[in-house]
Amino acid sequence: MGQAKQRGTFEQRKAQSQTSLASALLSGMDAALASAPEKLACAQGCSYCCHYHVYVYPHEVFALADYIRTLAEDAQGQIRRALLANVERIESMSVDEHIATNIACALLQNGLCSAYSVRPSACRQHHSLDGVSCKVTFYDTASPMQNIISAQRMANSARYILQMTRKLRASGYDITRYEMNRALLEALSDPGCRDRWNQGQKTFITVVDTTTEI
Ligand code: SF4
Repeated sequence: MGQAKQRGTFEQRKAQSQTSLASALLSGMDAALASAPEKLACAQGCSYCCHYHVYVYPHEVFALADYIRTLAEDAQGQIRRALLANVERIESMSVDEHIATNIACALLQNGLCSAYSVRPSACRQHHSLDGVSCKVTFYDTASPMQNIISAQRMANSARYILQMTRKLRASGYDITRYEMNRALLEALSDPGCRDRWNQGQKTFITVVDTTTEI
């Protein structure tokens, strides 16, 4: 009885630390970005970049999963169905094919991010200085045109992410980045993901598309 109580308390502490760790890291990312004040082309309702291939860190996936669980049943079901549809669609694609195909993020609703407060670092750091380049490369994914991204913000966020991942790695956490659709679907259906992350193992065992690059 006493042991069970202790174990419950320990697991609660771990779950709390995942949530607070994710929120502290995402706030740190915002602070790093805020130190680069530039005139951005990004505006509410513009969602070209929400059709990209996205890699996410495990703690970011947990923050998204925790957020989704606070939503009404209908909204949760809608997101799960969208995730599953995306996973089934990209299953037969190579990473390059996925990157070259506009697939709407499962969290995108009516042109807005439905999980904006906990969107992952890849989304936070993507700031365009020219909406035309976003539009052209969206409609013509083979276009040689490059998106004109804020280099200053990218550099600030890269510096922050490097520090963050060094600390996480030193603490024994998995710092692999995982393809978002598959990772989030697994996080929503397999509680074992959190244990694996806490134990420094590969967090999402169903995700093949991963990278250790920052
Ligand atoms: S998580 Fe939000 S910001 Fe990121 S791609 Fe999805 S809808 Fe866009």
